[in-house]
Amino acid sequence: MASATTTDFEPVIGLEVHVQLKTASKMFCGCGLAFGAPANSLTCPVCLGLPGALPMVNHLAIEYGIRIGLALNCQISHRVKFDRKNYFYPDLPKGYQISQYDEPLCFDGELQLAMPDGSTKVCTITRAHLEEDAGKSIHMDGATLVDLNRAGTPLIEIVGGPDLRSPEEAYIYLNTLKRNLSYLGISDLSMEKGSLRCDANVSIRPRGQEKFGVRSEIKNLNSFRMVRSALEHEIKRHAAAIEAGETLRQDTRLWDEDKQETRSLRSKEEATDYRFFPEPDLATFDVPREWVDAVRSTLPEMPEKRLLRFLHDFKLHEADAIYLVGDKALADFYERCIALRDDPRKVAAWVVGEVTREMNDRNAAIDELSLTPEALIELIALLDAGKLNNITAKEVLHAMIESGEGAMPAAKRLNKLIEQDDSAVDSVIAEVIAEYKDKAVADYAAGEEKALGFLVGQAMRKLKGKANPKDLGARFAKAIKA
Ligand code: ADP
Ligand code: MG
Ligand code: ZN
Repeated sequence: MASATTTDFEPVIGLEVHVQLKTASKMFCGCGLAFGAPANSLTCPVCLGLPGALPMVNHLAIEYGIRIGLALNCQISHRVKFDRKNYFYPDLPKGYQISQYDEPLCFDGELQLAMPDGSTKVCTITRAHLEEDAGKSIHMDGATLVDLNRAGTPLIEIVGGPDLRSPEEAYIYLNTLKRNLSYLGISDLSMEKGSLRCDANVSIRPRGQEKFGVRSEIKNLNSFRMVRSALEHEIKRHAAAIEAGETLRQDTRLWDEDKQETRSLRSKEEATDYRFFPEPDLATFDVPREWVDAVRSTLPEMPEKRLLRFLHDFKLHEADAIYLVGDKALADFYERCIALRDDPRKVAAWVVGEVTREMNDRNAAIDELSLTPEALIELIALLDAGKLNNITAKEVLHAMIESGEGAMPAAKRLNKLIEQDDSAVDSVIAEVIAEYKDKAVADYAAGEEKALGFLVGQAMRKLKGKANPKDLGARFAKAIKA
């Protein structure tokens, strides 16, 4: 009879994330990788699964795997061993996927999440293993076509521990993981193009109970926002079922974004269903520690550390620092600016503010804007020297990005440079004072500070923006009080 949920349930969530590696060729053959190439144009006997074709391991994919493992603080296995995971699907021509079963390349790692309350939550990375992608089935009315371009694409599957306790935590986990991976240059990490994919596992248990509940695995999640919505829905569904006395069965479900609900696809397979066994066509091989150390030496400074440095060395506002560190290319750009001009907060304000606005307007990354650190610093120097004001500096930045010019040429071309001609400025001030003698001027003289802003605005208009508002204000004050 209970309509509202009476038990206090705690969600338990664990995420599996697949990352497509950006190698030139596939995992086990020499075929190239390109999103959107003509169907089946990037195939060969190996990835088509023709009888007798033999796979060969792509060493760069292993190296990328090690890179990911190290960045996630994992142990790196001493050898690479592949296994066959057997199942039938039309886009899997071999009838099995080459994956790693009992010896993942990376294991026992962790990911640190910065929680909204300022605390840090450490999540377990259970394992990260290498595998190959399947092809793609394309369903058209009445027929299904298969494109095997994607078959054999190197993937790394990152399996997180059941550590997350709310959809919001899952959302933070995914954003943090993506941010950290973006520092490694190993993948496009595009959910749209399928180079980043996530399956979400969720169960609930009465708060205080140690034993986990029965879980559902949700697939077909095309954005982090969708992961969060699907988890919210699924948690409610589990709670309602348990309250109604139903027995939940472990299953695999699909998220329907239009209906905002999940649908059961199949009951969950067990590992035995896949009949894993060691891949007989690939010999195991060692991962020398020298190789791991060499990869480690090429790792960039990771975002957690960089954030602390930005806060400590540059004394940035936390929100600005978090934002900058979240985009490696932008943070690199910012640091190149700081090397040219040691004014971290002012430069951060420009990069986080106006430069970001220009990036968003163009839907472009910083590398895609024709803006160099030198040019931005030149602009800030003009502003500081009183040659531009805050408004014209933004107009000049916009023009610089449109044309690729430096700050000075753009400012000159737009005729925005303030070449202070004191007598011209003073005559404009005299003009404005004469015009508003009975109104704003009288108000200001009577102590109404706001009136000064109005007068400055009028003078600025007559000077076509080529003046410094502070300077104008001082001149008005002096002229009126005299
Ligand atoms: P499988 O390979 O069958 O999917 P795993 O044991 O590798 O199973 O777990 C897959 C994911 O499910 C992991 O991310 C893990 O954290 C999560 N998980 C496991 N048990 C539960 C549970 N009871 N509730 C929520 N998530 C779980
Ligand atoms: Mg799974
Ligand atoms: Zn091939």
